[in-house]
Amino acid sequence: MRIARFSIDGNVGFGVVEGDADTEGGPVLDIIKGHPFGEFERSGQKVPLSQVRLLAPVLPSKVVAVGRNYAAHASELHNTVPDAPIVFFKPSTAVAGPGDPVAYPSFSAEVHHEAELAVVIGRMCHQVPRERVSEVVLGYTCANDLTARDIQRAEEQWGRAKGWDGSCPLGPWVVTDLDPSDLAVLCTVNGEQRQLGRTSEMVRSVTDLVVHVSEAMTLLPGDVILTGTPAGVGPLNVGDEVAVTIEGIGTLTNKVITRG
Ligand code: ZN
Repeated sequence: MRIARFSIDGNVGFGVVEGDADTEGGPVLDIIKGHPFGEFERSGQKVPLSQVRLLAPVLPSKVVAVGRNYAAHASELHNTVPDAPIVFFKPSTAVAGPGDPVAYPSFSAEVHHEAELAVVIGRMCHQVPRERVSEVVLGYTCANDLTARDIQRAEEQWGRAKGWDGSCPLGPWVVTDLDPSDLAVLCTVNGEQRQLGRTSEMVRSVTDLVVHVSEAMTLLPGDVILTGTPAGVGPLNVGDEVAVTIEGIGTLTNKVITRG
């Protein structure tokens, strides 16, 4: 099931996406009563996907991200895979939606794309045992962990390099019932392939990461864990269109614009 968050005529809601581009009349959203965390009901009221604006599929209280979780990416930046995962945060204000323009930050001259599988938490949890991880995961979406690489090199902690406004596009929707263990992760810039990897190359699995993060902190419904990026990261320029595609999910596209 694909769950999208959307706005139409100034109202914001969640809906289940039905059909695809080949469906007669195009895909539609079956509007959910309330929110998708826990048991929910579909209203049966349907709107064409083409008539809504898709928003970031969740509003996380926090985005917890993991560094160097693909060995080939660690080595391309001349780093090693650390013994313990590197855990950092992107603030809620970093989140952007599918199709949202992302403003190039004023304090950087080297912004990189990082295509990542995002885990969306479905219920409040803390110290989740391995065998119960699937119970706390609502589903998966695409993420772009946009990074000011020059600032990341210059500053000891990555708060500014990874936390600027718009640096965490998420979308286009959350896919439930997806096995995250071996999915293709692709990043293109202006249609040209930059990154291509598989989640099976992750050093720590989704299960490992949910256990590790929740050992330290309570995760809330809508919180997001970013699982690291495959090799091939590279610079973005104003005017570029960057797209993250994950097998079984869809494509998250954003355009880089000049800061207004
Ligand atoms: Zn990353």
